[in-house]
Amino acid sequence: MKLYDTKSRQLKETTATDGLLTMYCCGPTVYRDAHVGNLRTFLLADLISRVISLTGVKVRLIQNITDVGHMSEDFAGDDKILSQASIEKVSPLEIARKYEEKFHHDLSLLNIGIADSYPRASESIDLMQSMIADLIEKGFAYVGDDKSVYFDAQKFESYGEISGNRLDSLKPGHRYEYHNDGVKKFHADWALWKAAGERSEMIWGSPWGPGYPGWHIECSAMSMKILNQHVDVHVGGIDLRFPHHENERAQSNAVIGHEAVDLWVHGEHLLFEGKKMSKSSGNVVLVSDIMARGIDPLALRLCFLENRYRSQMDLTWNSINAADETIKRWRTKMSTWGQSSAVTIDSEIESAFENDLDTPKVILRLREIEKSNLENKRELFLYADQVLGLYLDRPIAARELTEQMQALLDDRMKARSEKRWADSDALRLQLEDLGLQIKDTADGQSWS
Ligand code: AMP
Ligand code: ZN
Repeated sequence: MKLYDTKSRQLKETTATDGLLTMYCCGPTVYRDAHVGNLRTFLLADLISRVISLTGVKVRLIQNITDVGHMSEDFAGDDKILSQASIEKVSPLEIARKYEEKFHHDLSLLNIGIADSYPRASESIDLMQSMIADLIEKGFAYVGDDKSVYFDAQKFESYGEISGNRLDSLKPGHRYEYHNDGVKKFHADWALWKAAGERSEMIWGSPWGPGYPGWHIECSAMSMKILNQHVDVHVGGIDLRFPHHENERAQSNAVIGHEAVDLWVHGEHLLFEGKKMSKSSGNVVLVSDIMARGIDPLALRLCFLENRYRSQMDLTWNSINAADETIKRWRTKMSTWGQSSAVTIDSEIESAFENDLDTPKVILRLREIEKSNLENKRELFLYADQVLGLYLDRPIAARELTEQMQALLDDRMKARSEKRWADSDALRLQLEDLGLQIKDTADGQSWS
């Protein structure tokens, strides 16, 4: 399979060793629900993984859970998890586990395959500390007067190759890191370990004193350890290209002494109704918002597939509704095209998938097949659906409510009448896991 490599700025063939390809995808910071933009990036790893698997190569995918160390400018430079914990008045780990569970739920609603492991930053502190110690020993990091440990950016000569932001053109004054800029040797150095200072939660003992890890070191420590010092394909959203991936590359390469990542793949951002999705624009959309309108969440998956991962894409309610109709129509037609579960390879679809994930071309080809007189339409659709993941052979016929579903619906109705919103949300998740879509209207709860 060929993918666009941000670092070499060209299409590059993926490599595998002994029939195994290693992949790392930067995971969620679990302080809030993932919005549909985040999910577009998580889907990218799934699509690559499915195409590679179709070529007969096994994929080992790791996706981290960031539950400490990701600082935010929105929260006046505080740790995102701690800030949300104080807003919701619960412990930081409760915040992390709550949103981590919701992240997994969202992935399953979009039929995004499960990674081989989801290491948590807060449980990988030893790993990060040993990598930091190694970086100090090798002369790539130093302990500042404030007892934080910094990466010495100037020691890593090829800094900037992914993003093109070379050190000599990075001006001081830009906020590369969020605090203690004063004790760094050079303005572009960043913290690997941050001294606890006033902070009393989510801190750990270390050879340099109590503190907590920086955000960038977690991805280096986890990917290098779990994937045995080599990542064939590294995935993330375009905003992570700099500084996150630039810093990650410097840390990993400095420790292992050679190029740690073969191919850097970046997904472009998602806009919603023409605007960047952000809290301040008030246009953050969640999968639950789509389901609340009675729309199959896989319609969102189809919308993403209709756009190339490397193009910025503008999602609209119109496009989601149209995709929902398309899926329904395809499922209905599939049932009229027979019952076979065999797949037939279509060479045009195969080469589109393998040519830098040209999913829009695949969708066009399916529309062509749909209108054609071919006799094996069902088998061709089933072939494409191994990557598209739209459950196109799912029968549309109605299913009966089970007793368990009815009991959960009753419990939820009661919870809502008693204004127990957290219980109502938890029950919604259980019902969705059973395949129901729940809608809350002025007249109460309805389901399909
Ligand atoms: P976060 O949970 O903020 O750490 O982000 C998780 C992933 O979502 C990262 O790979 C980001 O690059 C990606 N991401 C953030 N915003 C968007 C967006 N609007 N469209 C696509 N990907 C995004
Ligand atoms: Zn990362």
